[in-house]
Order: sequence, then structure tokens, then C-alpha cells
Amino acid sequence: MMAINLTFYGGVGEIGGNKILLEADGTRIFLDFGTSFSSEDEYFEFPLLRPSCIEDLFKTGILPKLQGLYKNAGLSVNYASDGTPSLCGDEEVCSIDGILLSHAHVDHYGYLGMLRPDIPIYLSPISRKIIELKNDIREDWQTRVNLDTLCPVEKAKDFEIESLKITRYDVDHSVLGASAFIINAGDKTIAYTGDMRFHGNAVADSEEFLSACRSAGIDTLLCEGTRLGPPSEDEKEVESHALSSESEVEQKCRDIFSNEDRLIIYDASPADMNRMRLISKVAQDFGRTLVLDSKKAYLSLYMNYPDILCPGLPATGEFKIALSRLKLNASRYGKYGLPQDLYAESYIDYRQAHEGKLLVAQ
Ligand SMILES: [Zn+2]
Repeated sequence: MMAINLTFYGGVGEIGGNKILLEADGTRIFLDFGTSFSSEDEYFEFPLLRPSCIEDLFKTGILPKLQGLYKNAGLSVNYASDGTPSLCGDEEVCSIDGILLSHAHVDHYGYLGMLRPDIPIYLSPISRKIIELKNDIREDWQTRVNLDTLCPVEKAKDFEIESLKITRYDVDHSVLGASAFIINAGDKTIAYTGDMRFHGNAVADSEEFLSACRSAGIDTLLCEGTRLGPPSEDEKEVESHALSSESEVEQKCRDIFSNEDRLIIYDASPADMNRMRLISKVAQDFGRTLVLDSKKAYLSLYMNYPDILCPGLPATGEFKIALSRLKLNASRYGKYGLPQDLYAESYIDYRQAHEGKLLVAQ
């Protein structure tokens, strides 16, 4: 009988932060490798005090110090008497065969940037695209993934990692491209749901995964459970006012647009492209001008470039972009004869990263 070992380095008793090590027959994989917000909050304070290097995360016990998992582990910098730096030590040998990534929310992928680039990461094609775009937007040293390590797998496709036989399924979640996995390890079958819901636009995908679980006969189910269990009295009070499906959200939006002729502001994660698609559709139906901040605008445009991955997102010409004020520094921009501390709302030169690319595309 096959022995399976599961070790939870995050994701238990907290929301997200999943880092689950699965070991079977000599094969070792991680299920997600996400940021633990609750553990980070104990020692750091966003945005002023943040972990500055991987040692901060080891010392606080937020990350497990496992051999053969992290990039450059085993190496250190030595300084000669004249200050010349050189690398010394021996790089550790890789000890992890792969990572199954359920979806592109930071609490599931936010620590991938610290891992060895020779560990392949299996994910959906849409998750790969979102991670590529989020790399452009902001993600920091903990999160910035080497894109060469990403191995997109199509829906319902089988693949192998050493002795494990794995199938990836699409499931419904608030970020596009969410996956669940069924893992066969010898005579044992394990299902990993990632974050999965049954009230969004892709419920059929979640149902398909459930019926695959039924057919496969699952020995161990690893299920995300933020909202499992009966609600507390406080939660009941909140839930009595809450909307319970995406179709109710759409109806509520339409009610608001019908009854309000002044400015309407919507606030949602830039990664929630379903919400962006919905707001864009409702705004068009009501003849409203949609204005997106630069992150949402960037994701909306490039998600569908060069291939259409999310039909229905607002395209060029269907929205305007709200940019934060760009402060020009006279020492850099003195050639324009501009005074120091000038804010120039319409100045598009010298915007970096995704904003620069976005404005060129516009
Ligand atoms: Zn999630």
C-alpha cells in the first residue's frame, strides 16, 4: 500500500497561505506556495514594514527552511580585503519535483518568486497569463515568478510528475483560470480543490470537477474551507444583507445604475476580471463612460493580447484610464524647464512598467 505524507506549512487555520508538501513514493511536490497574510501581520506592517529578504521569513518561521527548495540556497557572498564580492558555498541540490498551482491569487502563489527556477510549476494557461501581467504591474521579490518555470496544462489534461499521475480541472472562483487537481499516487487518489465556489459564472466547471472526483473515488480530499461550517451570529447579520450569486450582483448593479445619475464608483480586485466584465457590460447598457485605473486597464487590454483569453473584457476605446498624479523631479526633467515638485496629470512620458506600456498601446 502506498504511503502518502502531507505536511501543511500554511493554509490551516488561516485564509489562504497554502503551502502543502505532498510526498509519495519518493516524489515530492507542493500544492500552492502562497503568501501567509496572517503570519506576516504578526511581525510586519504593510506597507511600511515588510520582509526585506528571505532570512526575515525564515527567522519569523513564516517560511519552512527546507533543503533544495529555494533559489541560491547554500550560496553566500564573500568580500575580499579590497571589498570585491564573490560567491562561495555549494548550491543545494533540488529536492522538489514540481508545484501544482491552483490559481493566481497572492495567498496561493505569492511566495513562488523565492523558489528555485528548476522546479516546474503546473497551472492553467489563464493563470500563467495573469501571473505574467501581474509581474509587469507590481509583484515584488517574493512574488515575481520566473516565467520559464511555468508549465501551462489544458483543462482535463493528464500529466505526470515522476511517479504521480495528475489531472487538472477548471473550477469557478473570483479570479479566472482557477484549477483543481486529482492526483493518483499508486493505489491512492487525492483531490485538491484550491479555492472553489458554486455561485459564479463557471459553476459548470466546479460541477465537472465534482463528478470527476466521484468517478475517481477519492481517498483524501484537500478542500479550501474559508466559508465552510455554520455562520456565527455576526456573520449571519452580515449575510442577511449579502448577495449570494453573481447574477444577484448583476441585478444589484443594474438597480444602482437605474436609480443613480451621478458618479458611480466600483471597487474590486483588479484580478477579478469577471467583475470588470460585468461592470463594463452594465456601463455600456446604460450609456455610461467606464473609467479604469491603470492596473485594471492593463489587465483588461493585455489579457486578450495576442490571444483572446477572456471575451467580454472592455477593449481599447471602450474605457478611459485614470492615472495617479506623476510627480516630476526637476533634476531629472530639468531639460523641460519644469519647476521642481510639479504634478503633471497629463504627462505621459517616463511612466514606468505597465503604465508606460499601456499608454504606448493606447
Ligand atoms: Zn483565491
